[in-house]
Amino acid sequence: MKGPVLGMWQRGLGPELLRGGVLTSAMWRSRIGSSRAMAAGTKRKFKKLMCCNRGEIAIRVFRAATELGMRTVGVYAQEDRHSLHRYKCDESYQLADSITPVGAYLDIDNIIEIAKDKNVDAIHPGYGFLSENAGFAKACEENGIAFVGPQAKVLRLFGDKTEARKLAIDANVNVVPGSPGPIANLEEAREFVEGKNGIGFPVIVKAAHGGGGRGMRVVFDPVEFSESVSRAQSEAEKAFGDGTVFIERFVHRPRHIEVQVLADGTGDVVHLYERDCSVQRRHQKVVEIAPASGLPDKVRETLWSDSVRLIKNSAYKNAGTVEFLIDQNGRHYFIEVNPRVQVEHTVTEEVTGVDVVQSQIRIAQGETLKEIGLEQDKVQLRGYAIQCRVTTENPANNFLPDYGRIDAFRPGEGMGIRLDSAAGFAGAVVTPHYDSLLIKVTAHALEFTKAAEKLRRALLEFRVRGVHTNIPFLKTVLNHPVFLKQQMATDFIDAHPELFVFPPQRDRANKILRFLAENVVNGHPMPGPDKTKEPSQLLPVMPIYDPNQNAPNGWKQVIDKEGPDGFAKAVRKFPYTLLGDTTWRDAHQSLLATRMRTVDMASIAPATSRAFSGLYAIECWGGATFDVCMRFLREDPWQRLHHLRNLVPNVPFQMLLRGANAVGYTSYPDNLVYEFCKHARQGGVDVFRVFDSLNYVDNLLIGMDAVHKADGVVQGEICYTGDVKSTPRKDKYGLDYYLNIADQLVNKGNTHVLGIKDMAGLLKPESARELIGALRKEFPNTPIHVHTHDTGGVGVASMLACAEAGADIVHGAIDSMSGTTSQPPLGSIMESLRQRENWPSKPVKTGKHAIHLPESEKLFELHDYWDTMRGHYAPFEQGARSTSVDVFEHEMPGGQYTNLMFQSQSLGLSKQWKEVKKAYADANRILGNIVKVTPSSKVVGDLAQFMVTNKLSGDDIVERADSLDLPRSVVEFLQGQLGFPYGGFPEPLR
Ligand code: ADP
Ligand code: MN
Repeated sequence: MKGPVLGMWQRGLGPELLRGGVLTSAMWRSRIGSSRAMAAGTKRKFKKLMCCNRGEIAIRVFRAATELGMRTVGVYAQEDRHSLHRYKCDESYQLADSITPVGAYLDIDNIIEIAKDKNVDAIHPGYGFLSENAGFAKACEENGIAFVGPQAKVLRLFGDKTEARKLAIDANVNVVPGSPGPIANLEEAREFVEGKNGIGFPVIVKAAHGGGGRGMRVVFDPVEFSESVSRAQSEAEKAFGDGTVFIERFVHRPRHIEVQVLADGTGDVVHLYERDCSVQRRHQKVVEIAPASGLPDKVRETLWSDSVRLIKNSAYKNAGTVEFLIDQNGRHYFIEVNPRVQVEHTVTEEVTGVDVVQSQIRIAQGETLKEIGLEQDKVQLRGYAIQCRVTTENPANNFLPDYGRIDAFRPGEGMGIRLDSAAGFAGAVVTPHYDSLLIKVTAHALEFTKAAEKLRRALLEFRVRGVHTNIPFLKTVLNHPVFLKQQMATDFIDAHPELFVFPPQRDRANKILRFLAENVVNGHPMPGPDKTKEPSQLLPVMPIYDPNQNAPNGWKQVIDKEGPDGFAKAVRKFPYTLLGDTTWRDAHQSLLATRMRTVDMASIAPATSRAFSGLYAIECWGGATFDVCMRFLREDPWQRLHHLRNLVPNVPFQMLLRGANAVGYTSYPDNLVYEFCKHARQGGVDVFRVFDSLNYVDNLLIGMDAVHKADGVVQGEICYTGDVKSTPRKDKYGLDYYLNIADQLVNKGNTHVLGIKDMAGLLKPESARELIGALRKEFPNTPIHVHTHDTGGVGVASMLACAEAGADIVHGAIDSMSGTTSQPPLGSIMESLRQRENWPSKPVKTGKHAIHLPESEKLFELHDYWDTMRGHYAPFEQGARSTSVDVFEHEMPGGQYTNLMFQSQSLGLSKQWKEVKKAYADANRILGNIVKVTPSSKVVGDLAQFMVTNKLSGDDIVERADSLDLPRSVVEFLQGQLGFPYGGFPEPLR
């Protein structure tokens, strides 16, 4: 593809030649003779204009040039290859690699090379980067390319602030009192500040070549003076490659006012009025206004005429800004000239209608101001314009620049709003390599306050997500009375900390979207669900009840009226065995890894409240509730509690509390446990089943005391393990063991109710009879509650045995959520007890209260609901399919069974489930046969998995304990972090 014709085409010579046209002399001039043409001051029309800048200003320049009929060329650093500006021009080229991302835009040789290669006529440098670089302007000239900006010598002049001051003095323009030139040495500086005619403190030490608010140090105190000067020198050297500094008096609370000028090089200069840039942060402009309405007209007029005179005197060509400070007495002082287009030129364009960038380009083409149509008396002001710089800085975090992908970008638009954007689209990536300007928003209206209102409205409309922006801060600025009255000085932001009071961004919609997208595409990060099992789509049949009729009163009212003690007495006296339901907690924990959502419980809650009004309690809260709610369901467990409480006003709510661990896995400070219980009680929990995973009484007593203080029903629990009736006794957990703990719970812990927590389902009927019978005899006045699992299939028989032996309450789950690792079926227990105890159908009086015993009909309805609902959780159904008496061997708690199966699966051990169970029994043996329930059960489970994964037996572990890297939970257990196991720690692991 490299024929001669194409080659010429690429260089821009093609079309004319191909069309058979003759190359005119003007065309020749523009291609090869332009430097001569420029020197002679002749006019030329640019065909191709490059902007060697990035971001919004590059786009601004492309737009101006396109409107003037030019072809536009952009350049971009490798880091900017996805940036918007490269797509907003006709051609764009990647810059040569540089050590820094900024460096690419400073590589003069490379930029000139690209410009020449692409036949560029003119280069607009934008602001920053090379815009004030005299060397670059010169290089452009030498290569026959027009530089859209002042001449190199003018740039050199104004690049040095001390030179600029001299020029101002020559033009009879008032400057800030300061050193006549650069500071030669410290003595001179001291003399100048502190001497007989010195300007006195405070002063500001400024870098002669500084810019962008950098390279300035304010000195208030003579003590810091010499250090500040030398620091300023070395900083200036580092930042600007020139350590020259000078000194000015520090003007107290000045306003920053600047005048926009245009000069065509013939001596004709016009001004485009002034801008107020007093809203600054660290000497950098944040909000800019045109014109400056808060100033007397006389001052304004002086600023215009001073600016024009100064610019005329310096034989200036192109656009520039003359900056002044105005002190509190209205006196004005020149500070510097910025020989380039400025970020805030937009406000001037809005109020004058003059296109500053186009004017720059046309002046560079050799047109005079007259030819452009710019005569001073024709430049009229119309209304007010305010611009704010929207940056990706976090105002809540000291304006720390933020970067990343913009997820959502919806700008505020409409009448009077102008947008100049750098990366204004969803998907744009803000990199840390360049400044953080995201978009400039400019409002224009006939009155200042209207413009402020428009701008604020536009910002309210903005939605930028994915990166932080300073928009919340800008909104408070635009609403501030000092701003609205135009009374601000450069200390405005520092002097008004209330500008930083704004509501945090919530970003709700995007958080939800991201969460859904993550889960739908990548799946939930927590392992477990069986992806081959489809959740059922069937909707449950809802029980019918009369919503206008309140649920009958129940034991909740007894607690509320009689207090925990009265409740315990009434329960003990009640002539029939009471039932507790675990469907909302343990049943789905044991069967579905606790994945049940609040909504599915809430839907059936009103019917449950009516059907089960006579229940002892509904268990609905525990440690796993917290864990799964927060990590998996992203629900608030407290909200769940409040919600269900409102729907069930009559049945006590029960929770499981790990003594000193509350609902967590580590020991918390006591006051936290106390606070937790207080909140839980206030939030709606009535009955607290307090246990310790090692039956460690000290821990139990802390939790029980916390419940007492919270005025809850204390149910001290003894975890049941081993077999109380095994003969000959093969383990250490005999009857004495339980009676001893029970004694402490009753007499030391003042428990209201004594609980037996058979978390693995090891309590066989005959053992139940023996244990409960003995407890009943020993503690005749304390109600006894038994909780079990049906893993071994003996649950119903055992609960009946417990009832016969004197238990007051037994636990079950609604039939469709019962069995195997869950609780035994409530229906079966209920029907058996109804027959045995001859339950009446009328409410049973107890003190002032009447209790309805549950009816079969209503239980069926709840059963039907859960039967269907359980199908919705099919992917989590991975527990035991049937009962199995091997539980008496491995002793694994029902709640752990399903979880451990999940975990084994994710570790790739699913085929070895049988071995895991065996190893579990073996692990328990070498750990000293401990009580196993969260978190002690996790210790055994972790060790079991470790053994299977590493193909180690229990004896191997014991033998090689020194050299093995045992799971952390095992080490922590042996360090005593869970408390002390009955009988002490096993040797030799200890
Ligand atoms: P830059 O080149 O960084 O723009 P300027 O000289 O224009 O530096 O000053 C920028 C800002 O610094 C001013 O707008 C003002 O807020 C502050 N400043 C500069 N000189 C003084 C001074 N002599 N007294 C008080 N504030 C000053
Ligand atoms: Mn400045």
